[in-house]
Amino acid sequence: LSERLSGVFDKLTKQGALSDEDVKTALREVRVALLEADVSLPVARDFIKAIQDKATGQAVTKSVTPGQQVVKIVHDELVHVLAGDEEDPGALKIDNPPTPILMVGLQGSGKTTTTGKLAKRLTEKNGKRVLMASLDIYRPAAMQQLAVLGTQIGVDTLPIVAGETAVQIAKRAKQQATLGGYDVYMLDTAGRLQIDQTLMQEVEDVRDAVNPRETLLVVDGLTGQVAVEVAEEFDGKIGISGVVLTRMDGDGRGGAALSMRAVTGKPIKFVGLGEKMDALEEFHPERIAGRILGMGDIVSLVEKAQETIEAEKAERMMKRFQKGQFNMNDLKMQLDQMLKMGGMEGIMGMMPGAGKMAKQAEKAGLDDSILRRQIALINSMTKKERANPQILQASRKKRIAKGAGLEVSELNKLMKQHRQMSDMMKKMGKGGMLKKAMAGMF
Ligand code: GDP
Ligand code: MG
Repeated sequence: LSERLSGVFDKLTKQGALSDEDVKTALREVRVALLEADVSLPVARDFIKAIQDKATGQAVTKSVTPGQQVVKIVHDELVHVLAGDEEDPGALKIDNPPTPILMVGLQGSGKTTTTGKLAKRLTEKNGKRVLMASLDIYRPAAMQQLAVLGTQIGVDTLPIVAGETAVQIAKRAKQQATLGGYDVYMLDTAGRLQIDQTLMQEVEDVRDAVNPRETLLVVDGLTGQVAVEVAEEFDGKIGISGVVLTRMDGDGRGGAALSMRAVTGKPIKFVGLGEKMDALEEFHPERIAGRILGMGDIVSLVEKAQETIEAEKAERMMKRFQKGQFNMNDLKMQLDQMLKMGGMEGIMGMMPGAGKMAKQAEKAGLDDSILRRQIALINSMTKKERANPQILQASRKKRIAKGAGLEVSELNKLMKQHRQMSDMMKKMGKGGMLKKAMAGMF
């Protein structure tokens, strides 16, 4: 992705503002990136459309670079969609004990493992007493698996009784949890390799028997498109309260997260990051957003591009200064830079050769508001006046000051400062000090 985008952003960084065409070009690449990250087609399409509307609305905003602006909009929107409105996505509703939590999903998605991980978390982190029960009547080994996990993490499991139905086990779990004074009981259901009617009916019956407070869909984060279908199906039939994405320790791009969130509107609560019992994390939208976009790459790329541009600009400026050319445009660029670098305070001490000027500025009470006023004054000069400030006569001065809403005396001060700096540049240019001073500024 970063390779493909770099070409686009190279182009973008050379232009001043974000045009419709820029947005379209960049978004074509973002769309490919989304599809490569396994985001489903309709979701990617909607997402791009939302971005397009937002980006175009912001098209006039003056940004550092247009590319950066697009990346930021895309990233923010990704985070926004992924995060939804939940304040604390990892929070589970645990109120009236014993609170039932139903774990659903396809076989092999990581239900049993996640049941153990969550039970451990609820026990250790939330201080809850948890009872786990396996409803996988089709695979005795699956029941045994949960019992083993329970022993390993120190969480009780419902004793295994042969010949019961899933609903019978669920009811027994509820009874045992009530009698045993447990805060939570977790039901680990059986899965199928594919969604089928028998499975759905069974899960529905269990749901109706215990009325779960949380129904968590466990999905393999590597399955992309399939995950979305699974989520739609389970949410439609059973009604889920949240999603756990497993296998996010793999090299999947995490596009399934975006698709599922967009399609079901249900929060992603946790992310599985390995086979071990502590490999479970609360969902962090920024991390997944970064993963989907390869954001780190893009950001550093854009930053690098920017640095190059700044360095080139500085180089050009220095050449001119050494020849004794220092006009109002140059001064304005420096003032802009000063503001960007944290104003006068940030700049003090950074210019070894300009120590005297810095002290003067300090004495004169030169602060950021003065920087801004000076920039305003330069802005209200014509192109010709900026290039040759010596042509400024009384009438022109009055016009400029008025245009900036300031007094002529301020303009005179600015011009004096410009002359002093210009002289200093010449001297420094000869002594090689200029290079040092500029190095501090850029
Ligand atoms: P179930 O059939 O849905 O109950 O799936 P299991 O919990 O038995 O998990 C199937 C396999 O996936 C097991 O080998 C687990 O160790 C593994 N697994 C589960 N969650 C994760 C995860 O987050 N990361 C990795 N790498 N493996 C996982
Ligand atoms: Mg299982």
